[in-house]
Amino acid sequence: MTDSNASLFARALERLPGGVNSPVRAFKSVGGQPFFAARAEGAYLWDVEGKRYIDYIGSWGPMIAGHAHPEVISAVLETAKAGLSFGVPNALEVDMAETLCRLIPSCEVVRMVNSGTEATLSAIRLARGATGRSKIVKFEGCYHGHGDSFLVKAGSGALTLGLPDSPGVPSPLADLTLTLPFNDFDAAAALFEQQGQEIAGLIVEPIVGNANCILPAEGFLQHLRQLCSEHGALLIFDEVMTGFRVALGGAQQRYGVRPDLSTFGKIIGGGMPVGAYGGRADLMRQIAPAGPIYQAGTLSGNPVAMAAGLATLRLIQRDGFYDQLEQSTHYLCDGLEAAAKQAGIPFTTTRSCAMFGLYFCAGPIGSYADAKASDADRFRQFFHGMLEQGVYWAPSAFEAAFLSAAHSRADLDFTIDAAARVFGTLD
Ligand code: PMP
Repeated sequence: MTDSNASLFARALERLPGGVNSPVRAFKSVGGQPFFAARAEGAYLWDVEGKRYIDYIGSWGPMIAGHAHPEVISAVLETAKAGLSFGVPNALEVDMAETLCRLIPSCEVVRMVNSGTEATLSAIRLARGATGRSKIVKFEGCYHGHGDSFLVKAGSGALTLGLPDSPGVPSPLADLTLTLPFNDFDAAAALFEQQGQEIAGLIVEPIVGNANCILPAEGFLQHLRQLCSEHGALLIFDEVMTGFRVALGGAQQRYGVRPDLSTFGKIIGGGMPVGAYGGRADLMRQIAPAGPIYQAGTLSGNPVAMAAGLATLRLIQRDGFYDQLEQSTHYLCDGLEAAAKQAGIPFTTTRSCAMFGLYFCAGPIGSYADAKASDADRFRQFFHGMLEQGVYWAPSAFEAAFLSAAHSRADLDFTIDAAARVFGTLD
């Protein structure tokens, strides 16, 4: 007999903190218990009890081509047959580095790592090492992984659980992280005016996907580019989420801004644990062993992970891939907005190609404060109502939703119809 979701969670609670290996999965802010995945294919996830869900998380981003895409699976199986890890260079690492540099022109040299967290940690070490300065700037509600320097007014699970600042981060280190409100031009200018000479780098999610989905105001990213250039600070785009999701060339292509360094994860691993950071050659060549700034990894550039990532990167380069995603997102979000209006529920969406945000408030959404105004109780009811209907959103009002190329028009219609029913039941 297979385990039920409930019995697995009971076992998990005994041996894993909160029953999970990453906080938001635990359903803490929406209540109830998580389900356990048995398998996934295309736009769908099945739990261990055989229930099917249309999945709008896609493993938190990587599955842009759909779950278990046959070309990705076969690349992984073929590569695995030759060995899982070598500890010496392999050709797929070189293919991956060349592919990333070709698709993201601001990346002249890249280094592969194993997660988004590793990528961002390494990027700020490089920023500090290269500039000889200590302070970094981040934005409220942005999440850049769980590195000490980033758990200051952080988004994602930290925000969902009401823990944007974590115990265990020494205050002398946290003091070196300066925070700004996203989309506030004047606050950024004032901070650089006062402390610009001490700032090693500014790191930003160019579209904030860890406080739901907040788009940059027109000219805001250009403004940050200019401030960093004027004050000798490095501009770091954290494209772990937006990279290869909002356009083939990421948010930097969409908004026409060239950062000094960028971080990636999720899609470039196709579902395997992969991250990368890259940027200006003169900076990246300061990383060991080319230069003195140390960063290393036993499994970095793992051949099986590279194979999954490269297969995914091949799929997303096909003609029309992003056009189809963009159209599907508009179709879905327009349908959800219309259904909410019909039910008299204040509701709005934000969108950028294959990522979008749902808000239980009237909008427009231009800031972190706006995003926090979304009615969390309504979201909770909506989340559970949709789950019952077989549609899975992130179990948090502060996470972006993701669409894949495998979501069909029928899946989107099913979702809109389910939402129309659920909107009608909300208090
Ligand atoms: N940066 C951003 C923008 C992210 O969204 C995330 C994860 N959601 C990270 C960094 C951390 O990546 P990982 O979870 O792979 O460590």
